[in-house]
Amino acid sequence: MEIVARCPKCDAGLPVSAADAPPAIKCGRCGREMPLSVSDDLRADRSVDRCPVCSGAEFYIRKDFDPKVGVTVVIIGALISASFYWFGRDLVAYSILGGAALIDLVVYGRLKDVTVCYRCHTEFRGAYTRSAGAFDLHTADVLEQEYERRIGRR
Ligand SMILES: [Zn+2]
Ligand SMILES: [Zn+2]
Repeated sequence: MEIVARCPKCDAGLPVSAADAPPAIKCGRCGREMPLSVSDDLRADRSVDRCPVCSGAEFYIRKDFDPKVGVTVVIIGALISASFYWFGRDLVAYSILGGAALIDLVVYGRLKDVTVCYRCHTEFRGAYTRSAGAFDLHTADVLEQEYERRIGRR
């Protein structure tokens, strides 16, 4: 399992391999030391049971989505279809626009789920069984505030 730990001080993403994670890592941007307590289930890529950064047990699932990719496809599609439209070929223009939207859907559907820690936003990628629920704004509000108070950001 691949873990991307979030530095509590500067929010930098720090990639760590769970299987041979060290007991502590140092942030490459701000130099802060972060202790990691990686559970056995995390090391074995079985499940995400406890966050190695904040010890929280509340997680949510989101699509591992890079918004830039989707937007680029739509923009390129729109540009091509606009040029056809300019030359009076409306039908071709519309079908290209539709095609671009379709490609977007396919890309989105193929995305894998990534588990994210509500408190510290550490991300977990791997073959483990997904057990967390969808993102809940209320839970996020409560847990993020609790965590930020704990690390002294509020
Ligand atoms: Zn940092
Ligand atoms: Zn966490």
